[in-house]
Amino acid sequence: MAIRNIREFGDPVLNKPCKEVTEVTPRVRELIEDMLDTMYAAGGVGLAAPQVGILKRIVVIDTTGEDPHILINPRIVETEGEQTGSEGCLSFPGKAGTVTRPKKVKCIAYDVEMNEYTLEGEDLLARAICHECDHLDGHLYTEKVEGEVYEVKPAEED
Ligand code: ZN
Repeated sequence: MAIRNIREFGDPVLNKPCKEVTEVTPRVRELIEDMLDTMYAAGGVGLAAPQVGILKRIVVIDTTGEDPHILINPRIVETEGEQTGSEGCLSFPGKAGTVTRPKKVKCIAYDVEMNEYTLEGEDLLARAICHECDHLDGHLYTEKVEGEVYEVKPAEED
């Protein structure tokens, strides 16, 4: 268990596409545990592996603080509706912007045993799934911000 350094905007690793995970080795397991620790320590609701400098398709999300989701090789297979709201990113500390995302998403991913499962999310969970999956393709929320990125107090970050 360890807290890793979160890469911030300007670090080229955030713009690179990530590789599929073929096997959950002890190293990958450690990475996932560290990602959860790092996300909780930073007060975020999601973290993607490239944000700790690792170009693998791994995401952790917890929108309530007691419901961690580990998504390996996630892909969004269905979306429904729209929501427009404030969004932030641990790689842009103290900033947020208005982003429109689907209201609901259905995502297929693998768990740490490499069993396929389906995660359906609404509202904040849907937003987090979209945001984190974008990271795996080297995309950042700032590409989708409507208007300007603004300053927020750290407690309002996600
Ligand atoms: Zn982010």
